[in-house]
Amino acid sequence: MALSGIQIYKMLPQTNCKECGFPTCRAFAMKLAAKQVELGTCPYVSEASKKQLAESAAPPIRLVTLKAGTEVKAGNEVCLFRHEKTFYNKTGIFIRVNASDPELAKKVAAADAYKVNYVGMDFTVDGFALVGDADMAAAVKTVRGATKRPLILIGDTNALQAGLSACGGETPMLYAADASNADALADLAKGKASLAVKADSLDALADLTQKIQAKGVEDMALDLGAKNMSEWLTRSTQVRRLALKNFRALGYPVIAFPCDAKDEAVAAAQAISKYAGFIVLSEFKPELLYPLLVLRENIYTDPQKPIQVTPGIYEINQPKPESPVLVTTNFSITYFAVANEVEGSGQPAWLVVTDAEGMSVLTAWAAGKFDAERIAKAIKGFDVASKVSKKRVILPGHVAVLSGELEAELPDWEIRVGPREAVDLPAFMKQALN
Ligand code: SF4
Repeated sequence: MALSGIQIYKMLPQTNCKECGFPTCRAFAMKLAAKQVELGTCPYVSEASKKQLAESAAPPIRLVTLKAGTEVKAGNEVCLFRHEKTFYNKTGIFIRVNASDPELAKKVAAADAYKVNYVGMDFTVDGFALVGDADMAAAVKTVRGATKRPLILIGDTNALQAGLSACGGETPMLYAADASNADALADLAKGKASLAVKADSLDALADLTQKIQAKGVEDMALDLGAKNMSEWLTRSTQVRRLALKNFRALGYPVIAFPCDAKDEAVAAAQAISKYAGFIVLSEFKPELLYPLLVLRENIYTDPQKPIQVTPGIYEINQPKPESPVLVTTNFSITYFAVANEVEGSGQPAWLVVTDAEGMSVLTAWAAGKFDAERIAKAIKGFDVASKVSKKRVILPGHVAVLSGELEAELPDWEIRVGPREAVDLPAFMKQALN
């Protein structure tokens, strides 16, 4: 359970030596309780206090990492609602494949190759859930010929043992330990794999995780054993709430199987939105995958840190010195809206992206982050004048009000006001600038 500042203070040396950079041990304790400093900053904490403080500082939901050529992390979450802080580790999206499928390698390779760019980020699948029996070891080798992504192995104890042996030094997840096989799978997973744990109720699940942990397995994922989406949502929310209250027996990421739901898309969207650490889809379907990836990105984007592109001068369609200079902000969606419209039109342009702290044009202007001074600073800072023969800047139409001030900031530049919407840029460039 998280300790208060006063409780932490009682464990500190209370000498007020100031070596941690704070005037008193009490001030340091308050910062430690707020997780704004590291315990190691104080060199005089006793070993006993260190142990107790480290336990209380452990995240309420354990970080579980599946490793192969790439990694998938789940857990380490600290809040129920994203706006309270942020969600850290995106739901791992796994594609189910069958070990006995004669087209196993081909199907895995097709899903593995999937890559789609969304506002500057490449989206891919995260791994594969391999379902098998006697053929598991051979199937792992086949899958490894087609992908380096992490695996969830699904099968009976013998199949999991064979599959795990074929995984070499990787850290896959084994699915799943229940009351009947918990001892055997705990022995198998210990030190080598994460272990999914399954039970019909949260009480039974908590009993099982404690039993497995006592056998030395730390990394687990919870299968909530729900019979329908409504029950799954209730249990997932209860697990998150209990975990955040430091109920350690349920402090693990949840694994969900939308592949078994009547409406896979809805079940997957619910699982991503409501706390699943891993989900398994029935097969590789780009038309299902893409919206889920976008949904996931939106949920796991820190609301306090909008997605941004690096400020700078971007070349679109191989601009020449006489090409126009457009200006926008570094909010990714704004940048890509402008860049895609201009690129699609085939017309060359220089696009100056100013540092507006990741805000869109109007928001940044209202917040004082996109004004004439900043635009002029960007144009001078990126030495735009050295690239063009015609000093002409196109302002977004939404900030036409800045044109006078920008003229004062850039007296030797022509300031033009462009359209309000990016979609109107190609026509504007064609008619007004030629
Ligand atoms: S370094 Fe440790 S003992 Fe010294 S003031 Fe900071 S917390 Fe107290």
